[in-house]
Amino acid sequence: MKPSQVKELKELLSKPKNIVIVTHWSPDGDAMGSSLGLYNYLKKKKHEVTVITPNDYPAFLYWLPGNKNVINFSIKTKEAIKAVTKANIIFCLDFNSLGRINHLGENVGKSNAIKCIIDHHLEPEDFADYMLSDTKSSSTCELVVDFITLMGDKNLIDKNIANCLYTGIVTDTGSFRFPSTSAKTHRIISELIDAGAENSIIHNRIYDDNTEDKLRLLGFLLVQKLTILKEYQTAFFSLKADELKHFNYKKGDTEGVVNYALSIVGIRFAAFFVERDGEIKTSFRSKGKFNVNLFARKHFNGGGHANAAGGMSDVSLDETIIKFVSLLPEYKKELNTPS
Ligand code: 5GP
Ligand code: MN
Repeated sequence: MKPSQVKELKELLSKPKNIVIVTHWSPDGDAMGSSLGLYNYLKKKKHEVTVITPNDYPAFLYWLPGNKNVINFSIKTKEAIKAVTKANIIFCLDFNSLGRINHLGENVGKSNAIKCIIDHHLEPEDFADYMLSDTKSSSTCELVVDFITLMGDKNLIDKNIANCLYTGIVTDTGSFRFPSTSAKTHRIISELIDAGAENSIIHNRIYDDNTEDKLRLLGFLLVQKLTILKEYQTAFFSLKADELKHFNYKKGDTEGVVNYALSIVGIRFAAFFVERDGEIKTSFRSKGKFNVNLFARKHFNGGGHANAAGGMSDVSLDETIIKFVSLLPEYKKELNTPS
């Protein structure tokens, strides 16, 4: 962000405003951590702030400070539209195209409020007045720390804000494992711990929150559903709606499962397909140079990052798998090129 824009935003935020924070469809730890981290910071600055999510998110994130004030657009649509209509400023966190917030995007797009994107995904759309975008950043939470610092308010980061921001960094870096984890990420993490982030408690809340159903569903996936295509260094699995039902599926129960497929020795490309709420959601992960953002954009109406992306399929689950497998020969050389 240009220094002149930083100055404008600082001035804008120096007096109480009506602010809305929106984040992407099916929010994850980074989406909720960054939104609520920014929410707690802006509340401290005496603004009127509303966080709106397009739909629900996993229960392992409900402990985040400020969670009880979040408005779910798919349930409290009128209340959400009222807040968007009233807003002077709308922050768009952890997404960069209005399509990622579904119908809420129509309201945000129409609004005359000043819009500010804080995000780390590739190929941002041009719909905002201000944008703090860094595709190399580990997480939007890391960028929210940058944003608060640019506003000259680093000293305002307290335990609540730090707990939210720590959560998004941990989840988006796979607990500091993914290549986007930098020395700066670790510096920010140490500052967040200094500011009061309860690091060990947070890890417990996120990763030691398994229900029996969730673990048995994972076991079923690994034992019965895993397909390995050695020729393409690819592994994938899928879940049908009735299989989810059998294991009393709750939102978040399949979060991160695609990483098990990617963790197999020799596998460079992993995919997970799930039939949920009448739609086929796809998740892609890769190791090295194979770009799953391009793959998801080209074939599955999606996007994301070079090594982690997702999308949707408009055909049945079985047809989606046939389509996926039939695409692999096109990428055989790329998938077999060591990087
Ligand atoms: P996941 O597979 O965990 O749902 O998503 C992996 C990454 O891809 C995340 O950064 C997420 O924001 C992005 N992503 C997931 N689904 C979609 C989608 O349908 N469209 C776009 N543009 N990005 C997606
Ligand atoms: Mn993110």
